[in-house]
Amino acid sequence: MIRRLAVLGAGAKAVAVAAKAAMLREMGVATPEIVAVERTAVAANWRAGGGWTDGQHRLGTSPEKDVGFPYRSMILPGRNGELDQRMMRLSWQSYLVGTGRFAEWVDRGKPAPTHETWANYLRWVADTVGLNVVDGEVIRMSLDGRSWVLHTGGGAIEADAVMITGPGQPGRSVLPGHPQVLSIAQFWELSASKERIDAERVAVIGGGETAASMLNELFGHRVSTITVISPQATLFTRGESFFENRMFSDPTEWVGLTPAERRDVMARTDRGVFSARVQDSLLADDRIRHLRGRVAHGIAADGRIRITLQTDRHGERLETVHGFDLVIDGSGADSLWFLPLLAQDALDLLEIRLNGPLTSDRLQQAIGDDLALSGVSPKLFLPNLSGLNQGPGFPNLSCLGLLSDRILGARPGAQLTQTNRRNVEYQSI
Ligand SMILES: Cc1cc2nc3c(=O)[nH]c(=O)nc-3n(C[C@H](O)[C@H](O)[C@H](O)COP(=O)(O)OP(=O)(O)OC[C@H]3O[C@@H](n4cnc5c(N)ncnc54)[C@H](O)[C@@H]3O)c2cc1C
Repeated sequence: MIRRLAVLGAGAKAVAVAAKAAMLREMGVATPEIVAVERTAVAANWRAGGGWTDGQHRLGTSPEKDVGFPYRSMILPGRNGELDQRMMRLSWQSYLVGTGRFAEWVDRGKPAPTHETWANYLRWVADTVGLNVVDGEVIRMSLDGRSWVLHTGGGAIEADAVMITGPGQPGRSVLPGHPQVLSIAQFWELSASKERIDAERVAVIGGGETAASMLNELFGHRVSTITVISPQATLFTRGESFFENRMFSDPTEWVGLTPAERRDVMARTDRGVFSARVQDSLLADDRIRHLRGRVAHGIAADGRIRITLQTDRHGERLETVHGFDLVIDGSGADSLWFLPLLAQDALDLLEIRLNGPLTSDRLQQAIGDDLALSGVSPKLFLPNLSGLNQGPGFPNLSCLGLLSDRILGARPGAQLTQTNRRNVEYQSI
């Protein structure tokens, strides 16, 4: 068994794994010690100041998709029902009952909580289970024999497995330092300061939940048009029927799909798409437009920001230039954000085990059943990259209860798993 699991970031995933580990411990089952290394505070990314939100916008998924969801544990044959019962004590509804707000939430029609309220829930769970949080920003990850070493400004934490979490750093910008270009973090800082944005033509780069929250906020400012720039052909509405949602809560059938089918489902339900709620409330506003393309670069000229977009048409790469008064770069979320933290010994290990440079495709295809890189020891869990191989719900909040089962059920060995065997077969066809 893994003895100590260090989690980079005390967010939703760290809290979910710590919660399941605490319940297992209560039942007398040996579990790894969980240590979260956090640069700010538990659930910081869900609050103002974390750089991703002002805390006042609402959760996109249902809050009932909480740390135990879908309450179908598979880690302890014969005792899973008991484990789920114990996890129910840490549910969203138990939190509302515990804080005297359950009846009001039901009477109001079970509204989606704000990000801030969701952060309070995660903190309540973390406090209840006594999540061990080490304060510090991880600036480097290296190896020491069979252990990982997480280096922070104030010291180092050793562990025999590491899980990377979080969407990355919200400070990215296509033109850093220019006052007419804002990163996600700068945008939320400005909104929190109650300063009114006053601009004719505004561009938001990127789609998905991050952009949705920013659009929601932008409508309250003085802007004439908002252009959403994304590589997709149009602004798609997320598929949210029972069948689509089920793929997120129950990935059993996922592994039976071909990689092309999986990518298709993810494109319809996850990447750069807006929920039906967002489409109804926001996209009906005629100030909003969509521009298809990938941002190649941006320059400042004649008081405007000129963005060069690339699109592929019939195999040919076209470039077009568009001018804006304000550009908000919402493309900060990056599942490979941790790669620059890896020391040379760690990079060497991963490149040898994965047979080549660490590209997104290669990493995704190497993720095993336990959400770690197959063949790599000590274990490196990468749930944010496990959507393609293991199920689209693992990178987000859709099945945190299953995620914790997979992580805590992992063994230190580094064999080729079922899923990876299947992928190797796909590649060789
Ligand atoms: C605005 C917004 C809204 C979203 N809404 C939804 C939604 O409704 N439903 C959904 O399923 N998903 C949503 N997501 C996606 C969401 O990011 C994931 O679902 C989920 O939060 C990821 O949990 P996590 O534990 O991986 O990361 P987080 O909860 O983001 O936690 C990461 C933690 O890592 C810390 N950290 C970062 N870098 C370091 C470092 N170097 N050293 C130490 N600590 C570090 C951060 O401070 C943070 O506390 C949303 C994302 C955003 C940005």
